[in-house]
Amino acid sequence: MIREQLLGQGLDHLPHAVLLVGPAGVGKTAFSEQLAALLLCESVAPDLTACGECQACRWLDAGNHPDFRRVAPDGDDEAEEGAAEKAGEKAKKKSPGIIRIAQIRELESFVFTGSHRNGNRVMLVTEAEAMPPAAANALLKILEEPPSNVYFILVSSKTKSLLPTIRSRCRVIPFGAPDAAAATAWLADAGLEKQAARYLQLAGGAPMRVAQWKDQGQLAPIDALVDSLISPPADPIALAARWDGLLKGDGVFRMENLVENVQRWVFDLAQERMAGEIRYHGGWPRPKGVGNLSPTALMTAWRDIGQFRRSARHPLNQLLFLESLAAHFLRALRPAGQ
Ligand SMILES: [Zn+2]
Repeated sequence: MIREQLLGQGLDHLPHAVLLVGPAGVGKTAFSEQLAALLLCESVAPDLTACGECQACRWLDAGNHPDFRRVAPDGDDEAEEGAAEKAGEKAKKKSPGIIRIAQIRELESFVFTGSHRNGNRVMLVTEAEAMPPAAANALLKILEEPPSNVYFILVSSKTKSLLPTIRSRCRVIPFGAPDAAAATAWLADAGLEKQAARYLQLAGGAPMRVAQWKDQGQLAPIDALVDSLISPPADPIALAARWDGLLKGDGVFRMENLVENVQRWVFDLAQERMAGEIRYHGGWPRPKGVGNLSPTALMTAWRDIGQFRRSARHPLNQLLFLESLAAHFLRALRPAGQ
């Protein structure tokens, strides 16, 4: 989605300054490196990826492309020098690195000198929030009037510490789980307006996962499974037969999907009883008599069903496996005290 957002109209329309923001661990840095490689590659593939083989790609890999600069917070080298003299006192208090104004000044000469390869020049600034105001202002001067063919990629997980003027000079690309409203709108575009919110909650807020379920024909079996959980037959053999039917459908609804969904349903029942919360199935009708269920029995079933997940890929006998799973599930539904 982020690739499409940035590159959907081709490389020529890429903004000259992008700021990738989002929590740590959502792929910002990896994406920024791909983008840099794409801008520098001299033999870009039709699907807009760097070839990995041309001279430019090899230089970038080796860390010595003349038209690429990476700026990251410096180790606090002054403190380290002092430490040698002052018996390690300062080294212990080593502050987290900052991007020094001198590092940005070096970029100025890089930006305003011509390209070595008659192509793009790219600057990648990671942990951009580590720029103190003086460094940020120096960068701002460059951002204000960049020569053509110069691209800035800024990455930050703490955007509150960034100067607003820096943000306003960049196209801000948010990374991470999209907010529910945006995700629901996106699913509506994908033809899933009906019940989009319901599936989105089941998928933990990840719209791509819902889209995948749709492509794989999993939505109908998921609905049928939840129906069987809302008002199950009392006989485990009958319940197992219904589940067995779902696994023989046209889509790719597999045993592990089934077990996961049953376990999540039980988790929700337990949470509902203990904390009044429903994490996964908030969009479905609630079964009758939830208030009478035993939280202890539900938690036990939740743990037991977790054991089933281990062997779900290769059950020895599918029907027996399902009957045993159904028995655990139904046992958890006995009202407290029985
Ligand atoms: Zn290349």
